[in-house]
Amino acid sequence: MATIVAISTAPGVGGIGIIRMSGDDCFNILNKIFIPKNKGEIENYKMKYGKIINSSTNEEIDEVLVSYFIAPKSYTTENMCEINSHGGIIVMNKILEECLKNGAELAEPGEFTKRAFLNGRIDLSQAEAVIDVINAKSNIEAKASINQLRGSLSQKIKKIKEKIINIMVDIEASIDYPEYDVEEVTNEKAKNQIEEVLKELRKLENSFNDGKIIKEGIKTVIVGTPNAGKSSLLNAILDEERAIVTSIEGTTRDTIEEFVTIRGIPLKLIDTAGIRKAKDEVEQIGIEKSKEYIKNSDLVIAIFDATKALKPEDIEILEMIREKNAIIVLNKEDLNSNVLDKEEKILSSGKKVIKISALKKTGIEELYDEIAKLFNINKLQIEDGEFLTNVRHKNSITNAIKKLEKSEQTILDNMPIDIISIDIKDALEELGKITGDSVSEDIIKEIFKKFCLGK
Ligand code: GDP
Repeated sequence: MATIVAISTAPGVGGIGIIRMSGDDCFNILNKIFIPKNKGEIENYKMKYGKIINSSTNEEIDEVLVSYFIAPKSYTTENMCEINSHGGIIVMNKILEECLKNGAELAEPGEFTKRAFLNGRIDLSQAEAVIDVINAKSNIEAKASINQLRGSLSQKIKKIKEKIINIMVDIEASIDYPEYDVEEVTNEKAKNQIEEVLKELRKLENSFNDGKIIKEGIKTVIVGTPNAGKSSLLNAILDEERAIVTSIEGTTRDTIEEFVTIRGIPLKLIDTAGIRKAKDEVEQIGIEKSKEYIKNSDLVIAIFDATKALKPEDIEILEMIREKNAIIVLNKEDLNSNVLDKEEKILSSGKKVIKISALKKTGIEELYDEIAKLFNINKLQIEDGEFLTNVRHKNSITNAIKKLEKSEQTILDNMPIDIISIDIKDALEELGKITGDSVSEDIIKEIFKKFCLGK
């Protein structure tokens, strides 16, 4: 395969930049542009110090360290090197140019990982885990991705596939040697085995919901009428929480999304209309807009100023959260003039009511407890990294389940045993899509397109 090269460090200026090269010609190209201080043999996983030169003019470009990875013990299984240069854009680009000039080709996004997959070092689910590790926004997500990268999902799918293959073997033996078998016995046995496999697949399928929460965070919105204490509560959560807070541009122009991890559960707090910003810059969000936020959220924290009677807008908010996963927060507990305590409209809402003071930061722990209770994710399963985060994997599992259920039905209908095997084969093929054994070139292309350059 052609030798590829890319700048692997993030675009921009940094202390160190890494230019990565992989392929048959990697060391030949390197020889033309790198003058090591130590002229001895190269060794696997060792570095050499030296300088990169312009191969036409011999002019020095940078002082570098080069690490060597000799095939097949490298990321791609090919000969590879990583040139650690100074992290300046000009220097990195010049080194890249030298590699290109001497025969390397510019790598496509994800091409190094694609080669690791095509050369059989990792399977497709592991390759996908690489992007997930890079993009992880919480500890738990990073851990799950690392598990998947290590092959936890691949192993699980492999074991399930083996079980299905055994069912197939039994069925085919009974087709080939009908004289040795009684069909009912095979049918009964196959049905039990299919049931067993289905149980495992359904468990994995269900874990996707938890996985989705982990990956995307629980979309949470704080709603309340002006001065209820929305921004004070948001600040209390963001400032108290020692977890890393990441601000990212929201889906609409005027929202910011903040990721926080509460009791191990990642929340994506939608900062409606930038309530964290200075007040005068901000339009107060109207009821219509609140409606929209509420509709699109997984969790609503409805906050009320407990010292004031409900206003018509408050009642509207109570109405809007009726069908939602919501927690009612009565704020300004510190003022000791709670008039909403006995408010019928709140008591009859069916939602958990929590009293807090966003200002004095009391009651926040109770709020967290309630959030953890509402989203009772299977912690054990998650700690084991045994959950799906990828919708492509989930769809394959759902399809495999459907096929196996169909084959089960075929058995119950007393259909000939060779018909049963058709659906079982389809189920195997679906599972093969996860690991990449049976997946189209187009899907592979789609997957690697999402990678960054140099990975
Ligand atoms: P928002 O309009 O809903 O974002 O409300 P703010 O968070 O800006 O709060 C409105 C006013 O109420 C501010 O002056 C806050 O200092 C005050 N406030 C917020 N929470 C509390 C609280 O728990 N106790 C008291 N005494 N005042 C609070």
